[in-house]
Amino acid sequence: MTERYFNTKSVHFYSKDKAENKSKARPIYQTSAFVFEDLEDMEQYFTGEKPYLYSRYGNPNTDDLGKGVALLEEAEDGIATSSGMSAILAGVFAVCKSGDHIVAAVDVYGGTYQLFASELAKYGVETSFVNMNGNWTEAIRENTALIYTESITNPLVRVEELEAITQEAKERKIAVMVDNTFATPYLLQPYSLGADLVIHSATKYIGGHSDVTAGVLVGSAELIAKARASMINAGSNLSPFEAWLACRGLKTLALRMERQSSNAQSLATALSEHPYVTQVYYPQGVSEKGNGAMLSVEFKEDVHIETFFASLDWIKIAPTLAGVETSVSYPLRTSHRSVPKEVREALGIGKQLVRVSVGVEDERDLVASFEAAIAKSL
Ligand SMILES: *Cc1c(COP(=O)(O)O)cnc(C)c1O
Repeated sequence: MTERYFNTKSVHFYSKDKAENKSKARPIYQTSAFVFEDLEDMEQYFTGEKPYLYSRYGNPNTDDLGKGVALLEEAEDGIATSSGMSAILAGVFAVCKSGDHIVAAVDVYGGTYQLFASELAKYGVETSFVNMNGNWTEAIRENTALIYTESITNPLVRVEELEAITQEAKERKIAVMVDNTFATPYLLQPYSLGADLVIHSATKYIGGHSDVTAGVLVGSAELIAKARASMINAGSNLSPFEAWLACRGLKTLALRMERQSSNAQSLATALSEHPYVTQVYYPQGVSEKGNGAMLSVEFKEDVHIETFFASLDWIKIAPTLAGVETSVSYPLRTSHRSVPKEVREALGIGKQLVRVSVGVEDERDLVASFEAAIAKSL
């Protein structure tokens, strides 16, 4: 197969339909198992000639999603899981065993922090949370098996130095796993930058329509084979219908990211020129294609935050992100609610901070709606 560009691959990532009636859209294999002509036919599953036996082990729709994202990330293989969290866990299981140590960025997604700090710790996998802009290599130990970070962080959209990290890790023979949810493979491809495993909450940009909870893990064929085995054992596979929805989303990933990034740039520019804004967090230089669709804005004390949220009109308040519709969230009372005050303040998450997930609407309406809500909150 000749190499194709991203926008083409994101539409044509499916394997060929081998069914007799070839439908244009992918059918949903909403089935728990697959049937066989006779015992010899079934034997072919075990010899590897037939791909499917039981949906928990594998299903065409979940394969489409795992392999589709792998194609876009330029990784060897991928699996789809029940959520972003179970994709992270499958990746950790592929690399770590009891007695191993993880070095993770302190500003990782809240759920990831909990998973590492509360759950993995119970099974003898300890995590050191570090400031990746500081002397993080000092946290590396004899038994460090994994370095874990995010390509773009939440909510202050810090862009990680992925190449420097993967280079450091390679020299020490430590695996690197990167959460690429915010950047998506449209903007950044951590596997090409040397990461061993890349995870996505496909609930976010890959699904793109706020109607599915799903995860994807991609990486080398060897590590994905291990992760697939632990996913099968844990039963954290994705349902065929959810996989089908996420695949439908994936087809427009490039289009959505292009529009959402340019809308985010316009909103970031408008807000940074606004007299009642102290700071806009929106990265520059993430990729040639844009800088993503997440931004955070810190308002002056004059802006009454409760009134601002209540005045946003059609913009939704939601503790999630990445859909085609613009939404806002309040990190202080959602994602960072349980983070101790000192840590929160050190991270720069205060009461005037609002996170914005920019959608595909007309940028003029978007800017007007923010300006009107600010005006009402003074
Ligand atoms: C939402 C999210 C997750 C968790 O994904 P789920 O699909 O909710 O399990 C992990 N990482 C990041 C960056 C996220 O935004």
